[in-house]
Amino acid sequence: MPDFGSDQLEDFRQEARAWLAANFPPTLKGSGGQALEGGGEVGGDLAAWRRAIGQKGWATPTWPPEYGGGGLSGPQARVLAQEMAKAGAFNPLMFGMGITMIGPTILDYGTEAQKQKHLPPIVRGEVQWCVGYSEPNAGSDLASLQTRAVDAGDHWVINGQKTWTSGAQYSDWCGCLVRTDPSAKKHDGISFLLIDMHQPGIETRPIALIAGASPFCETFFTDAVAPKEALLGQINVGWTVGKRLLQHERASQTGAPGGGRTVPLPEIAKRYCGVDAKGRLEDQDLRTRLVRHQMDARAHGLTLARAMAEAKEANGATNAASVLKNSATHVAQTRAELTLEIFGHQGLGWSGEAFSGEEIESVRGWLFGKAMSIYGGSAEIQNNIISKRILGLPDTTQSS
Ligand SMILES: Cc1cc2nc3c(=O)[nH]c(=O)nc-3n(C[C@H](O)[C@H](O)[C@H](O)COP(=O)(O)OP(=O)(O)OC[C@H]3O[C@@H](n4cnc5c(N)ncnc54)[C@H](O)[C@@H]3O)c2cc1C
Repeated sequence: MPDFGSDQLEDFRQEARAWLAANFPPTLKGSGGQALEGGGEVGGDLAAWRRAIGQKGWATPTWPPEYGGGGLSGPQARVLAQEMAKAGAFNPLMFGMGITMIGPTILDYGTEAQKQKHLPPIVRGEVQWCVGYSEPNAGSDLASLQTRAVDAGDHWVINGQKTWTSGAQYSDWCGCLVRTDPSAKKHDGISFLLIDMHQPGIETRPIALIAGASPFCETFFTDAVAPKEALLGQINVGWTVGKRLLQHERASQTGAPGGGRTVPLPEIAKRYCGVDAKGRLEDQDLRTRLVRHQMDARAHGLTLARAMAEAKEANGATNAASVLKNSATHVAQTRAELTLEIFGHQGLGWSGEAFSGEEIESVRGWLFGKAMSIYGGSAEIQNNIISKRILGLPDTTQSS
């Protein structure tokens, strides 16, 4: 990848700005993240935006152009992200796990034929992927997974059950960890298969949550099939491939989402909780905690920016993602807690006219934010990885 000087970056900034002005529909400004997930028909401006960015390859800005990606350098991709944020634009192809997890893992481990087959449809947003890792008896201790794939000559036959499979009910493909050698030690004998979800041997049962939504499924495999070339990486070495995908997943979860709020939290606090004679937030204790939160958020943002700048490869997720995932979780969950506290009684609303849209969003965001310290490997599992793989402390657990 060429090294871009500041002049070239400035030229690229102008190019990105002009392209966004010509292609990002103003009607979608600020609506980022909404209506991205799910299997329903997408029409109008959102469909046009998906098409435009997919054809340009800028939903996967650093992926190689030979697979439809943008071919941008890391610095150019950061400039593009800055310009998109300024324009109120968002990546409309961040549904499912194709861009964040499966695609980067195929780039790392796929054969040329697998790259040619699977990457272009992900780049263009034409397919949705899910990740089949967790099972009823294999979550943190993922290597205990029992779903079997048996070699049937020219194809695999898969039997077993996955759970918490996000978006499985809408997915076209599943990146799945299966046991291919039950006699081997548990971390060995695992393989990674790319499985077509559109077949009679796969059934998805959405899990209804207390809030009514069903973001994930139980997924049942009953004599499901996959061709021999569906194997990603080597046979019985799927644990290595699977861990790599998790690094990519964690790297995608380091951003401490702010719920899309444009008004800073201190301003909201002043509005709800009142100010003193100097115009400062009146509640001194809340003021102190808000400042501490803002410092944490700033430190996290700067550390993330430094980690990204230092990443040598565009695709360079590492174990440091575990540190950043936990830090992002801490910042996001603290912000959600503070927001509800600031709203007071108004922070108890679930629906109805007594509550503003922002209040209801915040309550729902607070509740969903609890999942951040579970998905992608729980906070405790990230701490184990940090202790073992980064700090080099003795291994006292079986998980990696
Ligand atoms: C919103 C959401 C989406 C998800 N999407 C997917 C998906 O798409 N695909 C998929 O395969 N899975 C998915 N998951 C599942 C997720 O990966 C698991 O929930 C997670 O790995 C924890 O496993 P578990 O739920 O079995 O909890 P357990 O493993 O039973 O853990 C229970 C508690 O024990 C702690 N614990 C367990 N082992 C240790 C240890 N060795 N040291 C310290 N503490 C430990 C954990 O931290 C946790 O607090 C999703 C989960 C959520 C919440």
